[in-house]
Amino acid sequence: MTSPALHDLSVAELARQLQKREVSAVEAAQHFLGRIQAAPELGAFVALNEEATLAQARAADERIAAGQARALDGVPIAHKDIFVTKNFPSTAGSKMLAGYQSPFDATVVTRLAEAGAVTLGKLNCDEFAMGSANENSAIAPLGFEQPAPVRNPWDSSRVPGGSSGGSAAAVAARLAPAVTGTDTGGSIRQPASFCGITGIKPTYGRASRYGMIAFASSLDQAGPMARSAEDCALLLSAICGPDPDRDSTSLDVPAEDFSRGLNDSIEGLRIGVPAEFFGEGLAPDVRAAVDGALKEYEKLGATLVPISLPRTELSIPVYYIIAPAEASSNLSRFDGVKFGHRAKDYGDLTDMYKKTRAEGFGDEVKRRIMIGAYVLSHGYYDAYYLQAQKIRRMIADDFQQAFKSCDVIAGPVAPTVAWKLGEKSADPVANYLADIFTLPGSLAGLPGMSLPAGFGEGGMPVGLQLIGNYFGESRLLNAAHRFQQATDFHLRRPQGI
Ligand code: GLN
Repeated sequence: MTSPALHDLSVAELARQLQKREVSAVEAAQHFLGRIQAAPELGAFVALNEEATLAQARAADERIAAGQARALDGVPIAHKDIFVTKNFPSTAGSKMLAGYQSPFDATVVTRLAEAGAVTLGKLNCDEFAMGSANENSAIAPLGFEQPAPVRNPWDSSRVPGGSSGGSAAAVAARLAPAVTGTDTGGSIRQPASFCGITGIKPTYGRASRYGMIAFASSLDQAGPMARSAEDCALLLSAICGPDPDRDSTSLDVPAEDFSRGLNDSIEGLRIGVPAEFFGEGLAPDVRAAVDGALKEYEKLGATLVPISLPRTELSIPVYYIIAPAEASSNLSRFDGVKFGHRAKDYGDLTDMYKKTRAEGFGDEVKRRIMIGAYVLSHGYYDAYYLQAQKIRRMIADDFQQAFKSCDVIAGPVAPTVAWKLGEKSADPVANYLADIFTLPGSLAGLPGMSLPAGFGEGGMPVGLQLIGNYFGESRLLNAAHRFQQATDFHLRRPQGI
């Protein structure tokens, strides 16, 4: 039997081979860089820096040779272009930051580098992480002259999901064994589901937000995306942990070895199934795949418990008030003064602000800034923003009520499989509605993940969402790993890849 190609190895297996020096970090990096350059048509990558990548790889090889290997030494990964990086441009998918070079690395980037991972490049995403289809990026991907949407490797006429669409597409197309993403309202889970990979968003506050270009600060959270739960656990162990000097919302909860409990039995695990996640809006093909996954869990010894999350529907208006409110404040820093784009011709200072922001931001970002400014304005604050905050609390309480009778919650990630490019691009509300199943967990700050659970219409992947209680990442990864030991959905590959 021929040994599998490097890009088919899991992170766990690749790390083992690197440490045994069966393959060098430089070879691994070159292999993936070659694949990325040979197949730019997905539009997943927006920046490479071969020199920086190979320098990191050489350092990893030296540590390994000296017997000082670190957990992820030599494993190539790529970052969503919402994390700032010293060695690559950092754009957040926005013209506002085109060509912007950060003087420092985000904490997540630093932590992965400290664990030995080698950065391959930066991945396309929706502008400031606003979107569900990765059609909102204003940056031309590598190999393109003009901005272009990321394509889904399973069907290039479809979206990869968003906002971490480049991240998900890169893993599915085996352009990177693992990547980072961020999730504000579903941006790790939904693209993972659309591209047939695994992704986890930890409890809000477990991963530092330092150097993550801010969208909605009370929701933004980083996490890994890879083919399996086992691989996600390896990255998550490196990413999490307090960052008290740099992110005041990072929690004082020590990093954990998320790989330790992966094989624990899930006999007797109580899986809550929320009635509201299986209503009319759920497409029959997605429902069938999710039902199949739940049956598999029963075979593995878990018990299904009917639960209710009565305010699921309200999570859409609540999120689309709170997230834009925070965005309108966060994005006020892009004023043409300190960094980023500045309009060329302008009159006075106000004119400079106006022209800079009109030119630098795309339509979706402008829409959200306007919604945000409106809901925070005098006279509307109480009616919208305050009300939304109250319901947010009730949504979080509903979860605590549900967790009295179950250990994890399971359901679909999105109502449908990945849609066609352009299908919803003229209709922002259609995009917002598709976030219904990921928003409740985000508003509550709970950990959540998506794992491949089957296939639906057009042979497109369907993800199963697992939501845990606060700090329940280990349990989620354990439940996902046991499922992946019994099924092979996560091992299937898009045609031609
Ligand atoms: N789709 C949601 C939005 O557009 C979530 C995005 C995210 O999680 N970054 O806001």
